[in-house]
Amino acid sequence: MLENTIKHNETISRLTRKKPLIIAGPCSAETREQVLETADLLSRTGKVDMFRAGIWKPRTRPGNFEGVGEAGLEWLREVKALYRLPAIIEVANARQAELALRYGIDAVWIGARTTVNPFSVQEIADALKGAAIPVYIKNPVNPDIELWTGAVERIQQADIKDIGLIHRGFSSYGNARLRNVPMWHLAIEIRRRFPDLPVLIDPSHITGNSALIPEILQKAIDLDYDGAIIEAHCRPGSAWSDAAQQVTPDELLRIINAIIWRKDDIQEERIIGQLEQLRRQIDQYDHQLLELISKRMHISREIGRVKKEHNVTILQTRRWQYIYDRVKALGQELGLSEEFINHYMEAIHLESIRNQDIIMNPKD
Ligand code: PEP
Ligand code: MN
Repeated sequence: MLENTIKHNETISRLTRKKPLIIAGPCSAETREQVLETADLLSRTGKVDMFRAGIWKPRTRPGNFEGVGEAGLEWLREVKALYRLPAIIEVANARQAELALRYGIDAVWIGARTTVNPFSVQEIADALKGAAIPVYIKNPVNPDIELWTGAVERIQQADIKDIGLIHRGFSSYGNARLRNVPMWHLAIEIRRRFPDLPVLIDPSHITGNSALIPEILQKAIDLDYDGAIIEAHCRPGSAWSDAAQQVTPDELLRIINAIIWRKDDIQEERIIGQLEQLRRQIDQYDHQLLELISKRMHISREIGRVKKEHNVTILQTRRWQYIYDRVKALGQELGLSEEFINHYMEAIHLESIRNQDIIMNPKD
C-alpha cells in the first residue's frame, strides 16, 4: 500500500514537470454525469494531463451556486478510475485541504482570493505539511508580488516538494475587455524569484470569454510558460458558474492544435552565434545607458546644490513640464511608445528628486 502511494506520487511529481502541462475541466463539478461526461470527452482529446474541477466555489456574491462539496470528491475518484485522469481541485482552508488528502486528490491549487490572505495560506500549509501533493499557487487578485511570494514561501516551508505558479490575471475596476488583466511583468518577476517553479497560464479567468482564450494562451506560450489550466465543460452554455469562459472539449482540442509551440532553446550554431552577437550589443547599450543616467544624476545633484544655496524648491513644475514635453516628442520621433516614455520619465524624475533631496536635507 505504502509502496503504491509512493509510486503514485512519483508519477504525479513527474507529471508536474511535463511541458506543456495541460490541465482542463469544468469551473465547477455540478453533477456526477456532468463530471464524468466532461472527463470522458477530455480524455478522448489525448491532450489533457490533469482534470480540474471546483468543489467549493468562492463566489463574490452570496446566493450563487457555491459548489457541491464533499460529494464531488467521489466523482473525481471515478474520473481517475475510468479515464486515468489525475484530479486537481482548489482548496481555500484547512478542512478542504484535509479532505483533498483523505480522498487521494492528486494535486491542489490555492485560488486568487486565498493567496491574498496569509492566515488562510498558512492554515492550508499546516494542513498539507509534508504531504506528497503538488500545490499550485495562483497570483493574488491584487497585483502584490510580495503576497504571491509569501504564499510560495509558506508552502515551501511546509515541505511541499512540487510547487507551481498560476497566472490568472488581476482584478481591476470598471468594464474591461478582459475579466482579470494579465500583468506579464509581474509574472516574469515571480519567475525570476523562483526560477525552478513551473508556471501555468489560466486564460479562462484572465479573459472571462472563451473567444479570447487562444490569444492569451499564445502570448503565454511565447513567454515560455510551462502549460495552462483551462476551463472546459461538456455543455458550457448551461454551466452553473463561469459559463461565458468555458469551452467544449472539442474547442479545447482545436485551440491546443492551433497553438504555435516555440522552442525555449536554440540548437543551431549559426543562430546561437547571431543571437550572441546581438545580445553583446544589448549588454553594451545597457552599460552605456546606466553610465549616462549616472552622469545625469550627478548633474541633478549639482542643480540641487545651486537650489540649496539660493533656497528654492526641488520641484519646479514648469521646468518639469518643459522637460517632459520635449522628451515625449523626442521619444515619438525615435519610435518609443508613449507608455514607455511615461514610465521612463517618472523613474528618472523620482530618482532626480531623491538625489536632490539628499543634497537639500542631508542626514548626518
Ligand atoms: C477557479 O479556477 O475556479 C477560480 C475560482 O479561479 P480564481 O481563484 O483564479 O478566481
Ligand atoms: Mn471559474
